[in-house]
Amino acid sequence: MADCLFCKIISGEIPSKKVFENDKVYAFYDIAPQAPVHVVIVPKTHIESANEITKENSSAVADIYEAIPEIARILGVEKSGYRIVNNCGKDAGQTVFHIHFHLLAGCVGGKMY
Ligand code: 5GP
Ligand code: ZN
Repeated sequence: MADCLFCKIISGEIPSKKVFENDKVYAFYDIAPQAPVHVVIVPKTHIESANEITKENSSAVADIYEAIPEIARILGVEKSGYRIVNNCGKDAGQTVFHIHFHLLAGCVGGKMY
């Protein structure tokens, strides 16, 4: 998608601090971290949000979750723990409309719900 910030980050047009990459997934440090460890994980295919997940494209979500254990190991938080957050739409605070998952770690906060 020509006008998508995260597509531009994936292509390298906009620089980012890469944490992990494979053929399906790209992970990078958030520019405005909300936790001591804050990484954004995106599929390389452009999907706007959780609302656009279908039978045809849902493997992109599996690709993310398959990469998460390795990303957690790279960050050194696989034992201490982390939270995965997906914001969908305006009321959830989604600001970039390329589906993404936040990995947040390093704060002892217990459950959020
Ligand atoms: P959302 O608010 O849509 O759930 O998450 C978007 C995230 O992207 C925010 O946490 C924001 O800080 C991050 N972000 C926005 N622009 C950039 C950027 O240019 N580079 C990086 N690394 N993160 C960004
Ligand atoms: Zn995109």
